[in-house]
Amino acid sequence: MISKLRDEILNCTKCPLAKTRNHVIFGEGNLHAPIMIIGEAPGRDEDIQGRPFVGKSGQLLDKILSACGFTREQHVFISNIVKCRPPDNRVPTTEEMITCLPWLYEQMELIDPKIIILLGATALRAICGSEYRITQARGNWIIWQNKLVMPVYHPAALLRDPSLKRPTWEDFKKIVLKYRELVDPAHFSEHV
Ligand code: SF4
Repeated sequence: MISKLRDEILNCTKCPLAKTRNHVIFGEGNLHAPIMIIGEAPGRDEDIQGRPFVGKSGQLLDKILSACGFTREQHVFISNIVKCRPPDNRVPTTEEMITCLPWLYEQMELIDPKIIILLGATALRAICGSEYRITQARGNWIIWQNKLVMPVYHPAALLRDPSLKRPTWEDFKKIVLKYRELVDPAHFSEHV
């Protein structure tokens, strides 16, 4: 089932981003992960390597996950709202997001995560609705389609503005506590 979906996604040409991409970024991690992490779109490094979150933002995300005691291999599956890089890393258009989102929804259905982390404003608005603002919604649990969703700042925003690191860490601490409550009471994190 997942290999059929992977094939379909990797060969997708449903929107104009297919013309300029090098790779379709299917996503990465545990296909039975309790946590799904959703970003905006692949960037240059991701487009070249064919993997999500491998540039500077990805390295910061890995550091945060590691502080939480989470690994890409075991605890999370990481994907994006659109699976091909928009030229010059522009924000994906509404049409591109609407065209690509059904792939993400199919992935969510197969993975069936307990917790969804939305990285940044674009992911938040694409999933929860355009009325949401990341500055107000971050750090607060949202119930969406019977799932628990936590919006947080995008790692790229933390790189631009280091003052966002502290509140973001507070948000991830809430995620670790919820993970212990819902998935594994014995989950170890050195820092939470
Ligand atoms: S961004 Fe999504 S819809 Fe557009 S071509 Fe890539 S996989 Fe298909």
